[in-house]
Amino acid sequence: MQNELLELVHDLKKRIELDPPKILTSDASPQQEWADLSQEVKTCQLCPLGLTRTQAVLGVGSMKAQVIFVGEGPGYEEDHKGEPFVGKAGQLLDNILAAIGLSRQTVYITNCVKCHPMIHPDQPGMRGNDRPPIPEEISACRGYLDRQIALIRPKVIVTLGAVATKTLLSTSMGITSMRGRWHSLPSDPNIKVLPTYHPAALLRNPALKREVWNDMKNLKKELESD
Ligand code: SF4
Ligand code: URA
Repeated sequence: MQNELLELVHDLKKRIELDPPKILTSDASPQQEWADLSQEVKTCQLCPLGLTRTQAVLGVGSMKAQVIFVGEGPGYEEDHKGEPFVGKAGQLLDNILAAIGLSRQTVYITNCVKCHPMIHPDQPGMRGNDRPPIPEEISACRGYLDRQIALIRPKVIVTLGAVATKTLLSTSMGITSMRGRWHSLPSDPNIKVLPTYHPAALLRNPALKREVWNDMKNLKKELESD
């Protein structure tokens, strides 16, 4: 009995030596993890968008933000400036944030994919050449978004539009039925998810602004509660 047990322990030790368990937590400081993430994204070629971008757009804002806003992907302006939401939709997002006392410096803003999805990838200098990312591009890029969320550990994620909502909530439901309600992040139920309309949708259809305003009031309330 004693011998059998010893043998078992010996056998286990050998197996662990051959195949050590994966270390789940990293020893690196958050600063180092951000630096690694930023470097990896800069040179990433995990999907074909890496071949045609001017530059990858990781995100902007506070690494200690209570709330992360997630859009689709960089457009022409973002690809050239290296910052998310700096075009017309971005100006509207800035105004929406300001209306509830937030700014792009106090929240964190990013996208489902970090490189510019183009209708005509052979014409990167052309304006109006933006398209939403396809599921393969989103899956390829997903690891970076997950790392951003894990590093920031926000209280709330606001998904801007259908693409981000589908990506983060793994749902096929439309934005109209998802928006304005609290959901939780499947991989971490402590993080609340609030889908709302994409600011570009508000530019096309200003009547949607009222609903987004309601969503932002709810967001503010949630951020102020403990
Ligand atoms: Fe890499 Fe994401 Fe850019 Fe594709 S979109 S090349 S996965 S960083
Ligand atoms: N639209 C998005 O979804 N993301 C941006 O960064 C800019 C416009």
